[in-house]
Amino acid sequence: MNPDIICVIFYIELVFDVGAITTDISEKLSILGSAAKYDVACTSSGVDRAGKKGEIGSTVASGICHSFAADGRCITLLKVLLSNSCVFDCSYCINRRTNDIKRASFEPKELADLTMQFYRRNYIEGLFLSSAVIRNPDYTCEQMIRVLELLRNEYRFRGYIHAKAIPGADELLIRRIGLLADRMSVNIELPSQKSLLLLAPDKSREKILNPMRTIQRSITESRTELVRYKSAPKFAPAGQSTQMIIGASPETDYQILTLAAALYKGYGLKRVFYSAYIPMVEGRNLPALTSKPPLLREHRLYQADWLMRFYHFDASELLDEKNPNFNTFVDPKCSWALTHLERFPVEINSADYETLLRIPGVGVKSAKKIVAARRTGALDFDGLKKLGVVLKRAQYFILCKGKTMEGVRLSHDSILRGLMSERSTELLEGSAGEQLSLFENETVTRGDVIKCLTGQI
Ligand code: SF4
Repeated sequence: MNPDIICVIFYIELVFDVGAITTDISEKLSILGSAAKYDVACTSSGVDRAGKKGEIGSTVASGICHSFAADGRCITLLKVLLSNSCVFDCSYCINRRTNDIKRASFEPKELADLTMQFYRRNYIEGLFLSSAVIRNPDYTCEQMIRVLELLRNEYRFRGYIHAKAIPGADELLIRRIGLLADRMSVNIELPSQKSLLLLAPDKSREKILNPMRTIQRSITESRTELVRYKSAPKFAPAGQSTQMIIGASPETDYQILTLAAALYKGYGLKRVFYSAYIPMVEGRNLPALTSKPPLLREHRLYQADWLMRFYHFDASELLDEKNPNFNTFVDPKCSWALTHLERFPVEINSADYETLLRIPGVGVKSAKKIVAARRTGALDFDGLKKLGVVLKRAQYFILCKGKTMEGVRLSHDSILRGLMSERSTELLEGSAGEQLSLFENETVTRGDVIKCLTGQI
């Protein structure tokens, strides 16, 4: 049996009082909870850590995930597929038609009842509902709508619901889902039409972008209506998101980032999630099963995504045709600064907010604090540290009262050496005595994770 499934059963038996859940439903839940974990479009998933004697807590890779509400609140969701019996044959997917795995499907009422049971016991605050394509996209959406209608209309469930739209489904069905869910997402999956043709022949760019467009228009219409009538129905009030698989196909970081920028701009997406491809199944045109998921690449893309959404960077400033992939040794902001040394050093006491945002080690919060603090007096390096500036990075790019930090040299090579030694220190700290090569470029450090979570780059 798949170790993930064992893990989920163990989890359900240990964590939940399964007395009221039949074995059949429990088995379906273990299969369909596990099958849903590869979808990262709800913020967290995939961490598997067993409990230890003498310590508290454990995590499983599937079943429950966390998402963030519009007000920043973290919410716990039951993350599950309605079915993993798919008629499509996407090469990269464990649930594809031609893969020999155990199949299961919930009846809409079973899943609605299960959600209510978990909600009443306070295990979850909402539902993340996705599905493989059962029969065809329209039929699948109708089944999902039935689950949501039961929850919203019969059980009067007011908790958070994130629902996936199935590419190729009728526009009217997409609209019905949006009136029942808080957030919707349509997975773009692969960054180009060419890769879709090769790896997901049942999907196409149009079949993915059409529902995205429908959702965007419906959200806009609903917001306009709500201004006029307080009681107008809300359509996906928490917006829409998407997920892109990284590393299953040959597109560069530049192509991926350019597409993400176009999706934010053209479709008003709340988030683009990047999911490092985990080789689970063999397939023509896929990376070998032995290849590692490109986790560091995924992190670099998340960092660049933060830079586009909160630091006012354009994709074309970060990468271009000649330089199409991120440097794995330094983060995208440092990389950008190194290629624009003519703009540095920046005098911290006089630079405007936009310029401050471009300094590596100065995040959105610290840039705002600098602007506020210097109204009462000039800042020095100690003062910057107290405001949360990461001097390990910022020191190469700033002046305080006209001076550089003591001992800092501002040439390209010495800055690069300094930034790389910061990363090698992080790698060594994270290795717990294991010898790690600096050229082990797929290693993600604690620092990388913190930067991605906080967005302070
Ligand atoms: S449509 Fe493709 S990605 Fe989705 S479940 Fe089916 S095979 Fe997997």
